[in-house]
Amino acid sequence: MSERPRLTVLSGPSGVGKSTVVAHMRKEHPDVWLSVSATTRTPRPGEQHGVHYFFVTDEEMDKLIANGELLEWAEFAGNRYGTPRAAVLERLEKGEPVLLEIDLQGARQVRESMTDARLVFLAPPSWEELVRRLTGRGTESPEVIERRLEAARTELAAEPEFDVTLVNTSVEDVARELLALMDVV
Ligand code: ADP
Ligand code: 5GP
Repeated sequence: MSERPRLTVLSGPSGVGKSTVVAHMRKEHPDVWLSVSATTRTPRPGEQHGVHYFFVTDEEMDKLIANGELLEWAEFAGNRYGTPRAAVLERLEKGEPVLLEIDLQGARQVRESMTDARLVFLAPPSWEELVRRLTGRGTESPEVIERRLEAARTELAAEPEFDVTLVNTSVEDVARELLALMDVV
């Protein structure tokens, strides 16, 4: 790879399939490094500390923010999420492809602080399919699903702010397109 890889940001409404696409992509290409975020939300069944997220208390999140340890952070549907800065910069320095899977507010902050970042929007094939996926995942209460769908309306309206839109009809196709965008072959 001749050029320094750009930071790639993947965003899109909750339930669109971001985690599924990223997991598929990394199964084939473990060399793509995915930043592990800190979050105040509680783990879903099967989620592991340090693998899917760093699950932190409100006080720990306050400290991370106050100490400037987060590249970006946002409150999403009642919980806070943030990207640890040092690990991302370290990987980029080493010339490794770096992927962030974060919400719209975080993507906007990255656009401000890292102007060469590539912002990718993952869109659902339709609103009905998004509702089906979010409900079908079965990990959230009806109240939380409602909050996430409310956020989804805002996120979908922001799609033109992104450099590229990929529609998640087929996980395999989107994973391939994302790898191509990241220059990983
Ligand atoms: P996100 O990380 O964006 O919140 P998930 O990856 O958890 O979304 O996916 C939400 C649900 O949609 C999961 O049950 C997942 O299996 C399903 N899903 C993801 N991509 C597709 C797809 N292309 N077709 C059908 N179902 C999908
Ligand atoms: P979930 O609770 O479904 O894992 O994530 C909810 C939302 O938070 C998703 O849109 C996800 O992309 C986003 N998210 C995860 N980590 C971060 C982060 O570090 N920063 C920001 N801004 N959003 C994040």
